[in-house]
Amino acid sequence: MLIVQKYGGTSVGTLERIDEVAKRVIENKKAGNDLVVVVSAMSGVTNQLIEYAEYFAKNAPQDRDMDMLLSSGERVTSALLSIALNAKGYPAISLSGRGAGITTDTSATKARIKSIDTKNIDEALKDGKIVVIAGFQGVNEHGQVTTLGRGGSDLSAVAIAGALKADLCEIYTDVDGVYTTDPRIEPNAKKLEKISYDEMLELASMGAKVLQNRSVELAKKLNVNLVTRSSFNHNEGTLITGEENMTNMEDVVISGIALDKNQARVTMRSVLDRPGTSAEIFKALADKNINVDMIIQNAGQKDGTTNLGFTVPQNEVDSARAVVEKYASSVEFDSDVVKVSIVGVGMKSHSGVASVAFSTLAAEGINIEMISTSEIKISIIVAAKYGELAVRALHKAYKLDA
Ligand code: ADP
Ligand code: ASP
Ligand code: MG
Repeated sequence: MLIVQKYGGTSVGTLERIDEVAKRVIENKKAGNDLVVVVSAMSGVTNQLIEYAEYFAKNAPQDRDMDMLLSSGERVTSALLSIALNAKGYPAISLSGRGAGITTDTSATKARIKSIDTKNIDEALKDGKIVVIAGFQGVNEHGQVTTLGRGGSDLSAVAIAGALKADLCEIYTDVDGVYTTDPRIEPNAKKLEKISYDEMLELASMGAKVLQNRSVELAKKLNVNLVTRSSFNHNEGTLITGEENMTNMEDVVISGIALDKNQARVTMRSVLDRPGTSAEIFKALADKNINVDMIIQNAGQKDGTTNLGFTVPQNEVDSARAVVEKYASSVEFDSDVVKVSIVGVGMKSHSGVASVAFSTLAAEGINIEMISTSEIKISIIVAAKYGELAVRALHKAYKLDA
C-alpha cells in the first residue's frame, strides 16, 4: 500500500515524540508499505513565531514575510524526522513544499494549492526511501514560499494523497479520532467510527479543528480515504467517507457539535437601504479574502437606512473594518462572542431539531444573539462566557453522550 501519514504539532512536539513517530513510520515501512509522511511544526512553534512578529507589528501582517517566517517551523520538523529515520537505518529524504512540487496561488498566509508535480516524491519512493514533507506550505508562480492557513498541514497531506492516488491518508493527532464534540470541553463525548465528508466539513468549518476544513473539502473532491487517529496509541480512528459508505445515516439526526471561539460580530449602523448595497459591501469583503459567515439585515427604517450585522474571524477584524467603514454611520466590533453549531445530515428529514436547541439554551438562561441554518447545520452566536456551557447542554439534549 501507498500510505500518506500526517503528524500534527503535539505528535512531533518534542525530540522524544519525533523519535516515537520515526518508530511508528518504520513499523509501517516494515509491513511492506510505501510511505510519504507530512509533518507540522512542533507544537507551539507556529504561535510562537506569530508572537515574535507581533513584537514588531501589533497585528501580524498577512504578507510574504509571514509566509517566510511561519513556513520555517514545518521545515525544522521534516528535517529532524528524516535525520531520525536515516539514523535508524531507514533511508529517508526531507522535502520542503517546493521540493514536493506544491504550487499555490499568490495569496499570502492562506494560499490555495493549484497543482502538485510529484516527480521528486515518485523518484524517492522508487529508490525505496521514506519521503518526509514539510506541511503547510508551497511555492507560488514567483518562486516565493507560501503558507496554506492555520491547520494547513492537513491540507498538504490530503492534496499529496490525492496527487499520488495513495491508498490511505492517515491524520495522526492527539485524540483518538473525531468525537461528537471536542472531548476537552465535554469529557463524555463519544468517538465516531465513521463520519460523512459533508458532516465533517461542516464541523471543521464551524470550529472543530481536529481536521482543517479545506482538507476535508479536498478529500471529498478527490475521494481520498481519510482516517484520523491518535499517534499516542494504536486505537482505531475515525473514517471520513462518502455518504454511500454510511449505514443508518438518517437515523442519526445529530452527529456532532462544534464551538468556534475565533468569531467576531460586526454591526454596521445606518447603511443605505437600496438594491445593490449589500452586493457592494460583501463583494468588497470577498475581494479582500475576508471570510464572512452569518449575515443579518434588520428591517429597514423610515429614513431609508438599515442595520447590517455579520461575523468574521477575529484576526480579520482590522481588514474588515477598513473595508466597511465608509458604508455606515458607525461600525461596531464585538469579539466577545462564540459560535455553537449543531451538525447532522439527519436534519434534512427530521423536524424539530432547531426547537430543541432553542429551548435547551433558554433553560440554561443563554441568550441567542444570531442564528443561521443550512440543510445539515444550525449555528448560533452566544456570549463567549456561555460557549462551553452551551456545548455541554446541547450535547446532552441531543443524547450524544448515550
Ligand atoms: P494537530 O496539532 O494534531 O493538528 P489539532 O490541535 O489541530 O491537532 O486538533 C486536535 C484537537 O482538536 C483535539 O485535541 C481536540 O481538542 C480538538 N477537537 C475539536 N473538536 C473535536 C472533535 N469533534 N473531535 C475530536 N477533537 C476535536
Ligand atoms: N503549524 C501550522 C499551524 O499551527 C499548520 C499545522 O499545524 O497544520 O497552524
Ligand atoms: Mg491541526
